Amino acid sequence: MKSIDRPAILGGDPAFTDPLPFNRPTLPPFSELADDFRDIIDTGLLTNGSRVAALEKRAAEICGRPVAAVSSCTSGLMLAYKLTGLSGKVIVPSFTFFATAHALFWNGLEPVFVDIDPGTWTVDPAKVEEAVTDEVSGIVAVDVFGNPAPREELSAVAARHGLKLVIDAAHSLGGQYRGRPIGSHADAEVFSLSPTKLAVAGEGGLVAGGAELIESVRCGRDYGNDGDYDCRFIGLSARMSEFHAALASASLDRLDGHVRAREQLAEAYWERLGEIPGLIRQATEPDSRPTNKDIPAFVDPRDFGLDRDGLRAALAAEGVPTRTYFDPPAHRQSAYSGLGTEALVLPVTERLSTNIICLPVFSHMKADEVERVCRAIHNIHTYADRVAAVATGPGAVTS
Ligand SMILES: *Cc1c(COP(=O)(O)O)cnc(C)c1O
Repeated sequence: MKSIDRPAILGGDPAFTDPLPFNRPTLPPFSELADDFRDIIDTGLLTNGSRVAALEKRAAEICGRPVAAVSSCTSGLMLAYKLTGLSGKVIVPSFTFFATAHALFWNGLEPVFVDIDPGTWTVDPAKVEEAVTDEVSGIVAVDVFGNPAPREELSAVAARHGLKLVIDAAHSLGGQYRGRPIGSHADAEVFSLSPTKLAVAGEGGLVAGGAELIESVRCGRDYGNDGDYDCRFIGLSARMSEFHAALASASLDRLDGHVRAREQLAEAYWERLGEIPGLIRQATEPDSRPTNKDIPAFVDPRDFGLDRDGLRAALAAEGVPTRTYFDPPAHRQSAYSGLGTEALVLPVTERLSTNIICLPVFSHMKADEVERVCRAIHNIHTYADRVAAVATGPGAVTS
């Protein structure tokens, strides 16, 4: 890298005078949606109409099997857990966005939190197998930061013990696992179309699964009412509106471009970050295709010279916002206190949640912006001792 400048936290010029966004949806132009939106108003068909059906068809082509549209990934997970027949205890990684576990609690299911693989940061199939007991009915895995969870190994564990496998694939729509599309593998794979993901509906979710399950999800998003006003089971109000479906379809048309753009952004980031000691990249399988929903880096304080929170404070001064996904991890959420999960020892999860920083990324981010973020990190590393003296840990950063 080129010249070393003094980091902004030590009085240098910030890398960005207008702070960079952390994440921003890459949206189709309004002109592309105007006719749809006008037609939805004119016809008064606001929900579960032709646009939801068209979105499901498009998503089914991407996933290679049937898909139902729902109001969010969280409602999709709630329906998928219930309709795949989970009961009692369910094995789930703690290193995830809390909605993965919330949806278990909403079904009256008990999460059995397990640790993750130290390289891929997805759930460790060996730990999953160790956690199986007679009370366990299923496994939930997560495609963390868009890195596909090891479906083949997890399916093998599930098959050996007669368990269901559900994937929280909120981050990974458009990716591939060992040459097959994400969405095509587990009993159910559930996606989010919320604003921080690669394809967006505004708010929305998709459930991919077998034809029978998907029919049940369509019934379940509509209270469990098949249309005869006599509910088959206790469902949710979790439909997707036609407005959201129109936006989501236009967004899906661009998904492959977004995945490719992020592949290039991730490579640009790591070409630079790889030169800096103490920054470690999430490991991926060569024949899988992650979506790079996030750009996470594990910060090893000894080699980098500064801890994760110190780097975070220094980047904030540069106009570079960051996030600390997933800290605290699910098993230490205050909402679950009293359930005994905070006493669990999950060493890899703990180490990652306190040392990972997620850097800005969005599908229309410019290579030059990546370069400036990396240069700022390089400068901060060079001045690490002095930065550490002024950046006093988590309290130095807000949000
Ligand atoms: C975003 C996200 C969710 C929740 O998605 P919603 O559509 O907001 O309900 C669930 N799981 C993971 C891993 C997520 O990142």
